[in-house]
Amino acid sequence: MAVPSRFDFASDNTAGICPEAWDACARANADYAPSYGNDAWTERAANLLRELFETDCEVFFVFNGTSANSLALASCCQSYHSVICHEHAHIMDDECGAPEFFSNGTKLLGAPGEHAKISPEGVALLASKRTDIHYPKPRVVSLTQSTELGTVYQLDELRQLRETTERFNLVTHMDGARFANAVASLGISPKAATWQAGIDVLCFGGTKLGMANCEAVIFFQRELARDFEYRCKQAGQLASKMRLLSAGWVGLLENGAWLKHAHHANRCARLLASRLESELGLKLAHPVEANAVFVNFPPPLAQGLRERGWLFYSFIGSGTARFMCSWRTSEAEIAALISDLAAIQKSA
Ligand SMILES: *Cc1c(COP(=O)(O)O)cnc(C)c1O
Repeated sequence: MAVPSRFDFASDNTAGICPEAWDACARANADYAPSYGNDAWTERAANLLRELFETDCEVFFVFNGTSANSLALASCCQSYHSVICHEHAHIMDDECGAPEFFSNGTKLLGAPGEHAKISPEGVALLASKRTDIHYPKPRVVSLTQSTELGTVYQLDELRQLRETTERFNLVTHMDGARFANAVASLGISPKAATWQAGIDVLCFGGTKLGMANCEAVIFFQRELARDFEYRCKQAGQLASKMRLLSAGWVGLLENGAWLKHAHHANRCARLLASRLESELGLKLAHPVEANAVFVNFPPPLAQGLRERGWLFYSFIGSGTARFMCSWRTSEAEIAALISDLAAIQKSA
């Protein structure tokens, strides 16, 4: 008989909507309201983000991270420009060419780097490699914070990257699908983690944090946002019942739930990581600095875990398994995973 599937750690988007966002949606649902974002909920959500970042930034809401990144990059670039990012960045590997599509041909240039981080040297190399007219002109550096491998750029790393972007006159974009987890991890203010560190445009992820389907695109360099509302509409990203998306931000921001949930998910990842190491003798593949745990997994362990119904990503050939924690993760779920792993080890 097939065992029931468990999606607890498969990704941070397998969890549903957190109570604060759900409650705000219910409140936004109580009455008629203007459509297409001309409502009080959307205005309040944008203002709460301006308060959070302590600056008068331009704020837009879209359905998902692929469109947030793609439209933000398109807004910063001409078609002959290039974007420097990690060679395995989400925009490079997981967005089906949407950044290139929406920017009408802007090229992504991949830089290598340990633990999914790009280095100032890597950026400088790509930015200075060619200056002739035959090469797409470097225009943007895109950083993922926290990274695709669950690490976090520290402030001194951002500072060093900024020296390089300033030297080459590059715009800095941050893919913040897990930005809240990075802020919780760094223990600094959102402004210190963004515009004060040289970030010009941030895609702030709401979905993995605990909303239904919403990401905020935040331009700290306001002139980069020119006509951005038209890009959103043309790309099919202007929600007619916008308030039911933006209300989630109000719910998460008005009482600090965004940071509470991010801290919780990070704490769960640290707990899971330490139990994998201490009770099962496994080795982490990357430092656990946010809400992801990457662990070296012998193939029989991965197979045994799948037979017990657990879903998780493994990275073919690398022998690594990924476990994601979210606002919903509980210690009981962590205990259930550890206990299944221990049983598999014992029976081997
Ligand atoms: C999940 C994720 C996104 C957004 O992906 P969508 O599925 O388009 O919402 C963007 N960047 C990173 C690093 C992600 O993990």
